[in-house]
Amino acid sequence: PKRSFKWQRVLLKVSGEALCGNHEQNIDPKITMSIAREVASVTRLGIEVAIVVGGGNFFRGSSWAGCSGLDRSSADYIGMLATVMNAIFLQATMESIGIPTRVQTAFRMSEVAEPYIRRRAIRHLEKGRVVIFAAGIGNPFFTTDTAAALRCAEINAEVVLKATNVDGVYDDDPRRNPNARLLDTLSYHDVTSKDLSVMDMTAITLCQENNIPVVVFNLTKPGNISKAIMGERKSPHAWA
Ligand code: UDP
Repeated sequence: PKRSFKWQRVLLKVSGEALCGNHEQNIDPKITMSIAREVASVTRLGIEVAIVVGGGNFFRGSSWAGCSGLDRSSADYIGMLATVMNAIFLQATMESIGIPTRVQTAFRMSEVAEPYIRRRAIRHLEKGRVVIFAAGIGNPFFTTDTAAALRCAEINAEVVLKATNVDGVYDDDPRRNPNARLLDTLSYHDVTSKDLSVMDMTAITLCQENNIPVVVFNLTKPGNISKAIMGERKSPHAWA
């Protein structure tokens, strides 16, 4: 019989920034390997893990739009392609340690990965495979945080676990203000009204409307990914 955990199916959001760490290249292979190992440890317990990857370590549409006539939509398509690179890297890393992993892209790249098919994604999860969703939601003007919220709702995952480089949500930017306080639990309203830049409004609203809790945690601390997935509330911080 399956043991029961706080969550049986989770959506892990890994931003591009988190993947690059302090590495001079765009991806730090130590980070992808630690993600793979920690995800492996929880999938072996029977917890289903879907991942949405960002692309900011390679390209962020909003920062490039306007440069030499690059319109926002074109820039965003490049950003979405960036997420596919991260997804393939992460998939290869996971499979190198024996975790069966499928990548599904929001627009077709059928030589490279499966297209996103909701029911098929769910089936993979039920079979114990990790599913990595790439290319965001497939539309410009959105972010991969929104993709995380949307896919979470679609596949009936119970929580969005947002892996970042900071310990959680602060009341100010901790890199600029040494007195910034780490907040424990917040309401969706706190996040939107105090303009705490953790997730964009579209993503937060989608979580709120679908009662999806969000846990923000620091993936650079060893053990934190599996702790977050197992639902331990000590180091990660949450709002609901
Ligand atoms: N993007 C997009 N639509 C989506 C998801 C992403 O256009 O549904 C583009 C957008 O340009 C974004 C880039 O892909 O800047 C990379 O994603 P994001 O910035 O969310 O990555 P992260 O911040 O998590 O690394």
